[in-house]
Amino acid sequence: MRRLRNVKIVATLGPASNDYAMIRALFEAGADVFRLNMSHGTHADIAARHAIIRKVEADLDRPIGILADLQGPKLRVGTFANGSEELIEGAKFRMDLSAAPGDVNRVQLPHPEIFAALEPGASLLVNDGKIRLEVVDCGKDYANCTVTVGGTISNRKGVNVPDVVLPLAALSEKDRGDLEFACELGVDWLALSFVQRPEDVIEARGLAKGRAAILSKIEKPAAVKAYDAILQVSDGIMVARGDLGVELPVTSVPPIQKRLVRGARAAAKPVIVATQMLESMIESPVPTRAEVSDVATAIYEGADAVMLSAESAAGKYPIEAVTTMNNVAMSVEKDPTYRQIIDASRVVRRETIADGIVSAAREIAEATNIKAIVCFSQSGSTVNLVSRERPKVPIIALTPLMSTARRSALIWGAHCVITEPQDRFKGAVLAAVKAARDHGFAGEEDMIVLTAGVPFNVKGTTNILRVAPCDERLISRVDPE
Ligand code: ATP
Ligand code: MG
Ligand code: MG
Repeated sequence: MRRLRNVKIVATLGPASNDYAMIRALFEAGADVFRLNMSHGTHADIAARHAIIRKVEADLDRPIGILADLQGPKLRVGTFANGSEELIEGAKFRMDLSAAPGDVNRVQLPHPEIFAALEPGASLLVNDGKIRLEVVDCGKDYANCTVTVGGTISNRKGVNVPDVVLPLAALSEKDRGDLEFACELGVDWLALSFVQRPEDVIEARGLAKGRAAILSKIEKPAAVKAYDAILQVSDGIMVARGDLGVELPVTSVPPIQKRLVRGARAAAKPVIVATQMLESMIESPVPTRAEVSDVATAIYEGADAVMLSAESAAGKYPIEAVTTMNNVAMSVEKDPTYRQIIDASRVVRRETIADGIVSAAREIAEATNIKAIVCFSQSGSTVNLVSRERPKVPIIALTPLMSTARRSALIWGAHCVITEPQDRFKGAVLAAVKAARDHGFAGEEDMIVLTAGVPFNVKGTTNILRVAPCDERLISRVDPE
């Protein structure tokens, strides 16, 4: 199965997308990476979804990326006796420490540190800022509020307190347990919520010990300020617009999004644009014009991936939401303006041999009638470099490591194929040709360009560029062993 677009789609799984049939349908509709949100559901739920994804992967014989999103120091309300309540503007609403189920008058907010820091007049923002409460009076275990913007509040919705500085540790006890659990399970990416400093990322990397790549969610003003340093120690970035648009004025999000996307591409690291991309599709089978435009904008900007949250996790139309993203991507990528924008924002780096090789591979491929760039990669770093070039021709990432293929599912344009470990040049060329032909990228009369490293199977040795015919007989005649 081959995607007919380059940008990738991340779909969050949840109650609306729990079973084999749905997860497989989401993959077939276009989801390349599945996100498991550790904030919701038990370890048993997460393990069950993980097992289903791996079953779909095996049944369809395509590597699938799995991203476990760690909750981080996110504040959340408790649960409601009825699951949800309607808060009306002007009504009184109380938050307290009592674990009793909530109702229309009160709910638990199980964070004593907030009550300690609150003052009358402070705002509490619920569910990515959709509901607003103003604190009227408060004590060490309660806050009595007035609803200033009403809406539906439901179980475990997030709370932001932008006016108050809270002492937050990057990884809670729960996060450490979740991180170890997710690594043991075998996820490919770990997303860190509310990163504020590069040290937060380094700490998580120390705990992951190479078992998963680390993606930093940029959603705090401090992270926006320290972006370059955080990017340097991260394997990827998420523009987490939900909390970002609450912690900072919502109008500052588009320029920040542009800056983060450009920075990540320049650093050859994947970047996901996330939250509310097709929000109305939680309830409706069709998106709004503005949502389609938002998804398109992220793709024009050169993001590696666009993401669905509640649309696929808890909405009524998960498959329609993925299909919409897929169709928007195909429409944008066909537009000649897209190519102009992508080419104009290319950062040419020729500081290393690998940089030079991938940039030459793109130039050769684009100037001639070459059908694909095939890159051999151990760690995935060459895949990232080829992807940074954003070539017009497809990228086939060949690797003997399943973990690399799965991680690279998030990378713009990468079609990942598992291959036998190679130790001979000719074998590598033949494997590249076979992948290009078997996966429908080239026919016998076509040519590919491939990048590889000799000696084989050593990290970071891309040093070969070869233009090869896709006719095996020609290769056998000319290529040395
Ligand atoms: P984050 O800040 O990490 O994005 P979130 O609470 O916004 O956390 P999302 O994964 O973005 O969570 O999903 C959006 C909404 O979908 C959630 O608020 C929740 O109502 C619902 N949801 C997502 N996953 C689950 C799940 N596994 N179980 C129950 N509800 C879920
Ligand atoms: Mg969210
Ligand atoms: Mg968030």
